[in-house]
Formats: sequence, C-alpha cells, structure tokens
Amino acid sequence: MEFETVINLEIHVVLSTRSKLFCGCSTAFGAEPNSNCCPVCLGLPGALPVLNRRAVELALTAALALDSSVQEECCFDRKNYYRPDLPKAYRVSQYDRPLALGGSLEVDFPDGARRIGLERLHLEEEAGRLIHAGDPIMNSTYFLVDYNRAGIPLLGIVTAPELRSGEEARLFLEALCSLLRHTGVSDVKMEQGSLRCDANISLKQPGCREKGVKTAVKNMNSFRAVELALNYEARRQAEIMERGGKMVQRICCWDEVRKVAVPLRGKEGSSGYRHLPDPDLPPLRLEQSFIEALKNKLPGLPPRSRRRQQ
Ligand SMILES: [Zn+2]
Repeated sequence: MEFETVINLEIHVVLSTRSKLFCGCSTAFGAEPNSNCCPVCLGLPGALPVLNRRAVELALTAALALDSSVQEECCFDRKNYYRPDLPKAYRVSQYDRPLALGGSLEVDFPDGARRIGLERLHLEEEAGRLIHAGDPIMNSTYFLVDYNRAGIPLLGIVTAPELRSGEEARLFLEALCSLLRHTGVSDVKMEQGSLRCDANISLKQPGCREKGVKTAVKNMNSFRAVELALNYEARRQAEIMERGGKMVQRICCWDEVRKVAVPLRGKEGSSGYRHLPDPDLPPLRLEQSFIEALKNKLPGLPPRSRRRQQ
C-alpha cells in the first residue's frame, strides 16, 4: 500500500555573531572548555541579560529573505527544564510571540520546484555542551560539561508539514543553508553543530484528512543522515500500518553507526516546559525603519543553479 509521508523540520542555526545573545562572551568555536563564560551565561544570582542587537539584525535578515512576516512586538520566554548543560535550569526562547510568522522557501525537487511553507522564526539561546565518553551516545558511561556554548544565539526555523520524503527534507535543508550562508546569517557548519535539525514524520492514507501519529527524529548530524533517518522511519511506519498495527507517538535518536532510529522516550508536550515570560527581558518592539534598513541591505538571492549543486 502507498502512504503519504508528512514531514516538518525544526531547525536551529547558530547566528554569526561575535558575542553571545545576552552577554559579551565570545562565541569563537574551539576555545578552551569553560573559558568563554560569565555570570550572565552561567546564570549566577543578580546577573542581568542585555539583548545582542546584531543577533536581532541577523534573525530579521533571515526572516526577510524567507518572506516571513516580522512581528512588531515579540517576547522572550523561559523554557524551564533541568539538564546538566543548562546552568540556569531554563533556556530563553520565544514561545507564543516569536520574531516572525509564516514565510516560505522555493526548493528544486526532482519533480519540479515547490514552495515549502514556514510556520515561524524565533530567537533562542544555546545550551552548553555535554561531551559524552563513548560512542554511540547510548553506550557512554560519563560526560564532561562545557559552558562555552551556553548563551550563543540561535535562530529557530519551523517548517510547515509540507515535505514528503527524506530526499525532499535534505534538499530543503541544502537550499536553506545556501540562503543563510549567502545572506551572512550563519556559517551553517553542520559538523561544528551550527546547524541542527530535528524532524517530525507521520504517514497517512492518500487523501485522508486525519493526521497520522508522529515520530520526532533527533541526532541527525548531516544532510545525508536526515535523508536516511527519515526514509528509515517512513519505512518502519509503513510496515506497521500495513500489518494493521497500532502507531504510538515517540521520540527517536538516529544511530549513525547502525543506521537505525532508536526510541528514546515518550514525547512530552510543550506544556512540560512551563514557558513563562522572562521578567528580565522586556518585550522587543521593532521600529519599521529598522526593518526597512535591513531589507534594503539584503543581497539578491543565491542563484538557483548554485542551490542545486550543494
Ligand atoms: Zn557570558
């Protein structure tokens, strides 16, 4: 039986700023562990964040290049959860009032060019880094923590569920990276972690309006891994549906060595993060003249032929 595959991507790219999102610490890659930290990005009591203007400019540049609608006022929220790489036990992000809504990117697919819609663009701060001893991650027995990355500015880009295969997801990512590099928003070096991509994938009967049961796939570290992981997951779901089995919502981690998607845990809803407005960061109001000035500085879009080659 043929099923329709429905995929959307949640992408995070590191913005090309010299300093972090809310403090003056350097964002340089490869520095001595825990050398680019200060009371603000370590969340010490009394330290107050100051928003990095350059990060806002770069995020807006991406929004304008992707025809996304920049919101006059956006807000910062605390996404609360505990992990050892998160010194504040929350991460500043934008929840219900992001920087920009909608937008699209035209991508050349094997069966012709198509516009893939975007749901939103938002600013977020990066967590620190856990360096696991052992590979794959599931076999590690301990980890080390490096806070140099904590507080580096990220741009979150969430696509509409309009991608239909692993190959389309890869081609979309390649086109997006080309655009972000061309506009100077990010250097999008996947191997240095400056672009990360999670995906949600479900299958449904052709023409059926009911949504399928989603799997979230994480830990895809290259364009090729995105394609392989999503094709793997589509095949797995198709086999279950053909048998008449019951689908359950789940989160998987792509195992690059074994080329399988391994289930991690049941999916928590966004309510699990208790998003709360950040009392230290006032709403960000953007002047129309500020947006216009950035619009005028936008370079032309990268040539389509170049987008195809990458
Ligand atoms: Zn800092």
